[in-house]
Order: sequence, then structure tokens, then C-alpha cells
Amino acid sequence: MTCPNKSRRQFLQYTAVSLVTASSPASAFFRLNNPCLNPSKTPVSKLEELAWQGVNPENWWDCHTHIVGSGDNGSGITLSEQMNAPLLHPIQTLLHWAYANAACTGKKGGQDVGYVSRIVALLETMPKGAKAMLYAFDKAHGANGDADHANTAFFVPNEYAMMLAKRYPERFEWVASIHPYRRDCEAVLEQAVVQGARAVKWLPPAMGIDPASPQCDRFYKVASKLNIPIISHGGEEKSVHGADQPLFGNPLRLRRALDAGVRVVIAHCATLGNDLDESGKSIRSFDIFAKLMAEKQWQGQLFGDISATVLRNRELEVVKTLLTETGWHSRLLNGSDYPLTGVLPLISIKNFVESGLLAEEALEPLLVLQDYHPFRFDFVLKRSLSWQGKRFASSVFETRPFFTGEVNS
Ligand SMILES: [Zn+2]
Repeated sequence: MTCPNKSRRQFLQYTAVSLVTASSPASAFFRLNNPCLNPSKTPVSKLEELAWQGVNPENWWDCHTHIVGSGDNGSGITLSEQMNAPLLHPIQTLLHWAYANAACTGKKGGQDVGYVSRIVALLETMPKGAKAMLYAFDKAHGANGDADHANTAFFVPNEYAMMLAKRYPERFEWVASIHPYRRDCEAVLEQAVVQGARAVKWLPPAMGIDPASPQCDRFYKVASKLNIPIISHGGEEKSVHGADQPLFGNPLRLRRALDAGVRVVIAHCATLGNDLDESGKSIRSFDIFAKLMAEKQWQGQLFGDISATVLRNRELEVVKTLLTETGWHSRLLNGSDYPLTGVLPLISIKNFVESGLLAEEALEPLLVLQDYHPFRFDFVLKRSLSWQGKRFASSVFETRPFFTGEVNS
């Protein structure tokens, strides 16, 4: 989940207005609130039929899907007070409300169940075989290996993500979240793999994980042995504060994992914010990602997920580079960052049309899809983007073989 300064201010303005005008005609007119329409009524356009050509739905796994909830139906999810304190923590609270609205979780007392019934309905209206990889989210931990509750923004238990994947095996896979400073991290990782986890997700800035710390070595050893990939957030992180360690999002810090033989997926291809390069100069995190992708020794080991790369806060230059760097496409993996794709103001289709990345006639069918179905919308939008005649290769959307270990690169 990412939200930079300019659009964060915009985003918060949108969010504030959307909440105030939630039920008013203005909100519908300005498309601020997710109308939570019935996904089974989603119209199918020619554009969508074209988007699926060449992509086998059996291989379509959305590799970046967040679980949302509040723990009101036994999920075990916990949220920091900051997420429900509009006066003391307006930003955190607004963001939380925006995600809850985007995931159509509904009212207090039914939010865990609301999230599940909504995402099941969305996946059920995807072609047969298509699945979402659901993310657990571990607590922040201190250097002493103890859970750091004070700095834990939210927590989604591995057991809950696993349970959902077991309850809906046709539509969900699960991704564990295990903090490497935990004393039991090796055993928990072994167990998670036995229980079918397809990857491990880290959000280092919010969880307080320094991927370059020797404290991660025990974990890297097991991850490399089990060949389970680590999906680690790269670049700037704004929406989830938690441990608030922005430097830990620097893609360079993941070199320690690569050196240990771990398959690393940099979330969002680090398309947001700046980080310090080796010379200590502040450059775009994306340029550091690009530099690592160019290093021969990481060819079969370093990958990027393209979740959130279509958000209005991304430079269009970055999207153009992702499209035209066709040599990267066998190492790019599609994910949505749901429920962000359900926050309507966050993705501007018009911007893509105006910048020549999207054909004019794609605007209408995508606007309709955006209202009905965040997963199909995100997919069809990405499939329809092109620059200098280059599009994302079909393989970018066929992520299953990567996570089942059938292919390494
Ligand atoms: Zn995310």
C-alpha cells in the first residue's frame, strides 16, 4: 500500500470529501466512493475479451492481495487505535476508512465477514482457475525478537489467511507474513510452507525489518532451502506507519537476501519515492530497482511485482519504462494491491488516455469495469496499456508457475 506526498494530499482530500458526501449524489457524480456493485452484473466488453486472449486463467494468480477486516468476526485481525481515531490520527483513520470502503466490508460487527463475502464474489466472477494470493501481515518486532505491539499498525494472522485459502481452494492461495527477528521465525516458515504458503510478504518500513541486517540470515537460509520467494515492499511507504523505518524500503538492502540465494520479488517495482544509492546520492527507488534488474547475477533470482504501478501517484515515465523494458517481462509478476484498486479516485484512466498510453476507446469500458470489479479492472487496464508499440507480455499475468516453483525465471 503506497501513497506519496502530492497524491496523498489529493488522496486525503478525495477521501475526506468522499466520506462527508458518502451517500450524497456528489459522491456518485465524482465517483469518490466505491458503489460496491454486484460483481455478477459486471458487463463484459470487447476490450476485456481481448485482454484475456493469450492469458491462461489457470495461471492467473494475483500475487498482491491484501486481507482487510477488523477482528469483529474471529479473524484475529487487530488494528492500531490510530486507525479509528479521526481527531487524533485523521490520516490513518481516513486511509483505514477508504480501504474498508474499497473492500466493501460494510458496518462494524460484520467487517471480517463483509470482506470475505465481497472478495469471494469478485473472484467467483473471474474466469475459472483465476485466483488471488491473500496476504497475512505480521506484527512489528524489535531487535530483541519480541513483538512490538506499540508499533504494529495492523496484524493479520497467518492462520486466517491459510484458513481462507483452505476454505476456498478454487479461488485463493495464501502468502505468509513472518518477521525474521522472531525467535521462532525458522520453524514458523517451515510450517507455513508445509501448510501451503506460496510466498512470504514483508513491509519492512512498517514492520521494522532491515533486510540488510544479519538478524535476517537464519530466515534467508530456510527461505533459500525451501525455495520460497520473499515479496518485499520496495520504495516509499506512506499509508501504513507502524515502525516507521523509511530507509528499510531501499531495494539495495535486499541484496543480503539475494546473496543468500533467496528468490526476491520487489513489490511495486519500487516505483515510488527516493532512496540512497551506493554513493549515498538520493535517486528514484525505481532507478535502484532498474540497476539491480540489470545486474547479471540476479537474473534468475530477482523479480518485481507490478501492483500499484497504475495508481495516479506513479510517474507515467515509470509505466512507460516498465512497458518498454521487454527484457524484464519474464521477471515481472502481476498483482493488484487490492483493495487499493477499489479506491476509485486512486486510478485515473483519463491520465493514461491523455498521455498516449491508452486508446481513447478504452476509456468507457474501463470506467464501467472500475465501478464493478477492481480485479478485472486492474487486469484489463494493464493489458490495454502500450507505449511505442510495447505492451506487458502475457507471461506477466501468468504468475502461478513462478509461485508453484515450476519455473525459476
Ligand atoms: Zn500492498
